[in-house]
Amino acid sequence: MNRGIKRKSWALGAAVSALIVGIWDHSAHALPQDVKDDSELRFIQIGAKNKEERTTIAKTGASVEAVRSDSVWAFANFKQITKLHDQGFQIIGNYDYKTSRGGHERLFDFPSNDSHFHNYNRMLTEIRNLQSKNPDLISLVSIGKSLEGRDLWAIHFNTSPDSLNQGISNKPGIVYMGNHHAREHVSVEVPLMYAKYLAEHRNDTAISQLLENRDVWIIPMVNPDGAEFDVSAGRYKWWRKNRRDNGDGTFGVDLNRNYSYHWGTEGAENDSSAETYLGPAPFSEPETQAIRDFVKSHINLKVLLSFHTFSELILYPWGYSYDGISKTEDLRAYQKMATTMAKWNHYKPQQSSDLYISTGDTTDWAYGELGIFSFTFELSPSGMEGGGFYPGQGIIDKVFKDNLQPCLYLLNVSGNPYQVLDTGSETNWLPNYVQPGSQF
Ligand SMILES: [Zn+2]
Repeated sequence: MNRGIKRKSWALGAAVSALIVGIWDHSAHALPQDVKDDSELRFIQIGAKNKEERTTIAKTGASVEAVRSDSVWAFANFKQITKLHDQGFQIIGNYDYKTSRGGHERLFDFPSNDSHFHNYNRMLTEIRNLQSKNPDLISLVSIGKSLEGRDLWAIHFNTSPDSLNQGISNKPGIVYMGNHHAREHVSVEVPLMYAKYLAEHRNDTAISQLLENRDVWIIPMVNPDGAEFDVSAGRYKWWRKNRRDNGDGTFGVDLNRNYSYHWGTEGAENDSSAETYLGPAPFSEPETQAIRDFVKSHINLKVLLSFHTFSELILYPWGYSYDGISKTEDLRAYQKMATTMAKWNHYKPQQSSDLYISTGDTTDWAYGELGIFSFTFELSPSGMEGGGFYPGQGIIDKVFKDNLQPCLYLLNVSGNPYQVLDTGSETNWLPNYVQPGSQF
């Protein structure tokens, strides 16, 4: 919306282009000389050593996607690159995502090399099969519709027929969700495989006990319009947001900046062309409205896990502030849960704002407004070297196995998250095969 910022001169534009190209001109993917189109995004590596520098980068509107000790990878348009340059940041790499990955192009589907990934229709077929094989355990619930009218499907597990029928339970509940960000397709696969795992192992002693005593919700695709758009041309578009027509030639709101808790105070962008565009108002988007209404109407929910990619991180609130959670007991419980899960998936546990400040995300809202213990997992790979958003289908099984035990652990602790503070709690009430450090 805030499109009034003056374009820099051609001369500076050329200088910025030359700056990037100069560093990168050994590559076949050098930037074209003219990068002054604000709608054109570049994926660049920027020198940055600490969270304050990373937050400054994020404040230009660039979307920081991966953090290393000495740099970040971020999407930025010409205006943002110019700002970064003016503030003295070094742009040390440029990734030509337009030509990355592929295989045979297939319109409205994943490239042939990645055909194991689920587009919206295949996801739907999968969960319908699952439900029809387990009608006494699973129901499918549409919690709302996307902007383009696709149902937002939730897989509901409950052993009580009444609860399944009514979609309401008084057992302690947990919700897992994937794909707030369109191009993060691995974040669809993990909750889908987890749903299949629970159904297929429903008669195992430990799993059946958990299912008997919990109310489980899995929403594998929160942003189906974006996910479909990302693969619509038969190659990846590197799309992040939903498909809102912003009315000014730009598309998309960042759904993970659109929640209401400290919405828009910092770490989200007013510029509608930006990757982290927060939208015109909190909960302006049908997708975030659906999650809000679902979570608020299920007061039994104790734990929430939102899957994203990539970086191999376990994140907990706050994102909006460098301050830690003030309620000591909650902070200790969060830290205990995060470090316990990290023993299985070997991800790095940390407060979200240790990366950089961001506002309007799912977990700040669910914890800040509703007191639900809420985590974001940034799934594999760990970095761009592993393929970034597009690591290839070969990674899916491993990412699922890495995260199965953390998922089961959260399912278990959702009975009463504060029990993790009891001495010896891990050994007292976890099934044997989900002990920390044990192998799947
Ligand atoms: Zn994400």
